[in-house]
Formats: sequence, structure tokens, C-alpha cells
Amino acid sequence: GPALKRAAGLVREVPDFPEPGVLFRDIGPVLADPDAFGAVVHALGRRGDFDVVVGVEARGFLLGAAVAHACGTGVVGLRKPGKLPAVADRVDYDLEYGTATLELPADALESGQRVLVVDDVLATGGTLGAARQLADKAGCEAVGAAVVLELTALEGRAAVPDWDVQALFTV
Ligand code: IMP
Repeated sequence: GPALKRAAGLVREVPDFPEPGVLFRDIGPVLADPDAFGAVVHALGRRGDFDVVVGVEARGFLLGAAVAHACGTGVVGLRKPGKLPAVADRVDYDLEYGTATLELPADALESGQRVLVVDDVLATGGTLGAARQLADKAGCEAVGAAVVLELTALEGRAAVPDWDVQALFTV
């Protein structure tokens, strides 16, 4: 609809962030706009075959909580290292330069739950791959992921083969 179109136009391009030569896509203005935010949250939750939303720190928290509330589920946040008082599991994964880690909080996911992973941007797919591994290892069924924006040139879907990743916008 028109609100989703409007949302696409609100994604901001920031040259040379976080380092020279990188064109960063900032979805902040989408979240700040009531109509665009509502449309994006509705669209991310559209598939509706999940029991819990997993949101990735940090913008995946903002989106994931809204999607979960709209769909009547709870939400679990995957965190960067050193933030959680009790950790159930952690996964290290490769970034373009270096590595990163995501941690799953203790007593958050239950075996058998169907999980939808929510994040803002799909780039190389390392982050979604780590989220999927954490869900799998917790005995959950990772039914898929929903992101606002997919950077198709980075071929991130290859990192999560045989997974249903829904991207609202692609660039
Ligand atoms: P990936 O693991 O390479 O797919 O990177 C995805 C993660 O990095 C997501 O959690 C995004 O929030 C973040 N990210 C990567 N590129 C961008 C970007 O251009 N804009 C906003 N976030 C990005």
C-alpha cells in the first residue's frame, strides 16, 4: 500500500559509514514515521505462523517487539556479548572484517517453538545465520526471517539456504 511505499522512500543513505567507501542504509526515519512504521510492522508479521519473535540487537529489538505485540506473541532479544546476566548459548560468526557474537538469554526460548527472526537489514547474512543457529540449537523451528531491507549485491540469502527470508524492500 501507499504507507509501505512511503516507508521505502524514508530509508536514508549514509555514505562512508561505518567506514570510508561503505554506503550505510539507515531505517531510523522509517521507525520515526507513524504510518511507515505501522505498515512495516504489519508487513513483517504477515506470515503469522510463528509462536515467538526473535529480534537482533539493536534495531531488530525495535522492530521485533512491535511485530510480536501486533501478532500477539512474545519477543526474545539476541544480544551482543557481555550484556546478559544469564546466557543459554552463543554463536560466533564471520563479518566482512573480523568476527561477531550473538548470545541467547537463558530461559527465553522453549523447545518446539516456531521462531520468526526479525532484523532491519540483511547484508552478508552472517547475522541471520547466527540467529538461526541459536534457534535450532534451542530446539526451536526457525520458520524464517523478516527484514525491512535486503542488500542483494551481498548475496546474504546464501548464508541461510533453504530458509524463507522475507525482505520488504531490496536494493
Ligand atoms: P550481515 O550479518 O552482514 O547480514 O549484516 C546484518 C547486520 O548488520 C544487521 O544486524 C544490520 O543491522 C547490520 N547492517 C549491515 N549493513 C547495514 C546497513 O547498511 N544498514 C544498517 N544495518 C546494517
